[in-house]
Amino acid sequence: MEDSSTRTVVITGGSRGIGRCIALKFSDEKANIVLVHYDPDESAAQETLDLLDGKGIQAESHKVDVSSFSHVDKLFAQIVDSYGKVDVLVNNAGITRDTLLMRMEEKDWDAVVNVNLKSVFNCTHAVIRPMIKRRSGWIVNISSVVGQIGNIGQANYSASKAGIMGFTKTVAREVASRGIRVNAVAPGFIETDMTASLPEKVREKFLEQIPLGRMGKPEEVAEVVYWLCSEGSSYLTGQVIHVNGGLYM
Ligand code: NAP
Repeated sequence: MEDSSTRTVVITGGSRGIGRCIALKFSDEKANIVLVHYDPDESAAQETLDLLDGKGIQAESHKVDVSSFSHVDKLFAQIVDSYGKVDVLVNNAGITRDTLLMRMEEKDWDAVVNVNLKSVFNCTHAVIRPMIKRRSGWIVNISSVVGQIGNIGQANYSASKAGIMGFTKTVAREVASRGIRVNAVAPGFIETDMTASLPEKVREKFLEQIPLGRMGKPEEVAEVVYWLCSEGSSYLTGQVIHVNGGLYM
């Protein structure tokens, strides 16, 4: 019989990178884990499920485009049906379509803003009523250092990540009295598929600007996300926590 204190954690973009590490971190407390991803190639999601396998927890993945309001709504209804509740939502799914503004096409803007920012609205909207009813919940939105400081070639991405910061603060104010905490984490330059394709020159330029002198590991972001959903951070809401090796202070 499952203990009712077992948390159900939904992680968008949980198939790889930072999202996979967040899932592994939550598996330590034996939470139920629901991963959301979108690539028709399910191999990364399956690899994450394999890593979670054997930890004695319930874990599953769903192939859903988080930028679709109706599909997200359906998915969360299904999750609440299966698990009875969502305790933790980590809005982590994200993409880039980098190019200078003068070359940026409408589709590059729309794709990035829809997947990175609209998805945060979609998923939060889908969980907020049941969380308010239960007077309990944790939401962590994954922003980025470039939402704070900007970055050449990332007008779409930095706008989406800055939007997440404003959204986080507003929703935090709206639901604080209902026992729900909403925070954001803004990673710097982290070793994942997203940064693997960057040209060596860009990588070196970034590294020169990081006081700690190295890229971050996805596990280092996952630690902070987990902490934001734990008692240790009980007096924090509406905050943006920067995990960037000092790149932005
Ligand atoms: P990643 O390795 O590229 O993984 C991205 C994840 O998002 C994958 O699980 C992917 O699943 C999922 N995803 C993409 N589009 C989706 C969609 N439409 N619907 C559902 N899921 C979708 O990225 P990451 O580096 O771990 O980044 C995770 C988050 O951290 C992102 O929000 C990113 O912007 C942010 N971030 C990353 C860095 C960094 O340096 N890596 C820095 C700052 C912020 P599929 O492959 O199955 O589609």
